[in-house]
Amino acid sequence: MSRSDELFARALEAMPGGVSSPVRAYPSVGGTPRFVREAHGSHITDVDGRRYVDLVCSWGPMIAGHAHPAVVEAVQQAVAGSTSFGAPCEVELRLAEAVVARMAGAVERVRFTCSGTEAVMTAARLARGVTGRPLIVKFIGCYHGHADSFLVAAGSGVASLGLPDSPGVPQAIASDTVALPYGRLDLVAELFATRGEQIAAIVTEGVPANMGVIVPPPDFNRRLAEIAHAHGALLVQDEVLTGFRVSATGAWGLTGQRDGWTPDLFTFGKVIGGGMPLAAVAGRAELLDQLAPLGSIYQAGTLSGNPAACAAGLATLGLMDSDAYARLDSIAEQVAGIVDRALDAVGVAHRLNKVSNLFSVFLADEPVVDFASASRQDRAAFSRFFHAALDAGLWLAPSGFEAWFCSTAIDDDDLEVIEKAVAAGARAAAQ
Ligand code: PLP
Repeated sequence: MSRSDELFARALEAMPGGVSSPVRAYPSVGGTPRFVREAHGSHITDVDGRRYVDLVCSWGPMIAGHAHPAVVEAVQQAVAGSTSFGAPCEVELRLAEAVVARMAGAVERVRFTCSGTEAVMTAARLARGVTGRPLIVKFIGCYHGHADSFLVAAGSGVASLGLPDSPGVPQAIASDTVALPYGRLDLVAELFATRGEQIAAIVTEGVPANMGVIVPPPDFNRRLAEIAHAHGALLVQDEVLTGFRVSATGAWGLTGQRDGWTPDLFTFGKVIGGGMPLAAVAGRAELLDQLAPLGSIYQAGTLSGNPAACAAGLATLGLMDSDAYARLDSIAEQVAGIVDRALDAVGVAHRLNKVSNLFSVFLADEPVVDFASASRQDRAAFSRFFHAALDAGLWLAPSGFEAWFCSTAIDDDDLEVIEKAVAAGARAAAQ
């Protein structure tokens, strides 16, 4: 019995499913999750001493690799002066200013939270509060965290587990969320034509990545903003996953910033916290200043904006200059190419969906454009791919409904490991 097996057996007795977050338990690929001892740069080491090249990056945050000296030093310095004050601090302000500066006119105010879930929950409350309307529109297969309003046709773990909407979400709350198939502007327009006066906001992922990566149709987010605005509603662009990852200015940088339009509210998480519990809702002053204490829309957090998390986020953003993004894009291009060629070589039907440095590989023989087509991927073949690649030293998300995350720490030696592991995965998928 491996040490991971031993620890997981114990964990099942102390924690539901042995984990703090469902997908970590390998529910869709089977087997026992490996317990991590430590991680440095592009490598994760498990408690049995096996080393892996990491293409999960803690589900996104570790964009500059694990335990980067600049991040470790910033956090060490911060915690030496206490982990939390419950009062304003300078590093929190500096991180807010860095976000405002980076988002080049699209963001004037930033309110920090401890998770992406809270950030999106706050954005929804703000949208409902300022418009005085109840309805949120979301897309099937998009994941916006686990707040009640968003566990409706959700992606990520909910999709991996094949769960229907969660028990415990009151019908009264779920019925104020309308979920539409992704990419269907015609259905969005139709919904607004009939219920537009009740809609507070459309909430969409900057680039959907929680049903695997879906390439947004051209101009999709801009058209959503136009439709929402024509009816007095807001567009919330959830960039918890894409923010400061797919470009220096996130998914907005690939679309709105280039084309001259801006969502009303953004949510950020993952990269902005450098691997610590930190996320944010951000946008124009006119909207954000309606949060308490200036406004009457309530939101708060004991640990929000704590110095350790803000220091990790600030140090991580500091590492991500234009050279770092160019490097990340090039690494992602190479990794995606490796996977594409390996699957071609063994004749496994697949679709590579890629937006800048974010990609997914679906074992599917049709274009994957929404949750319905993502759900038709060959999940059994993915499980075989996953386990063979894991055994060959590649740490992948244990689900075909997730993105592959690269870090700037991946080097040529890692690419060699990836090539061999992906080839092993492809051969297993072909069986
Ligand atoms: N929004 C998006 C787009 C996400 O990908 C996630 C998490 O994966 C969340 C919100 C929720 O963030 P958290 O897990 O920090 O609550």
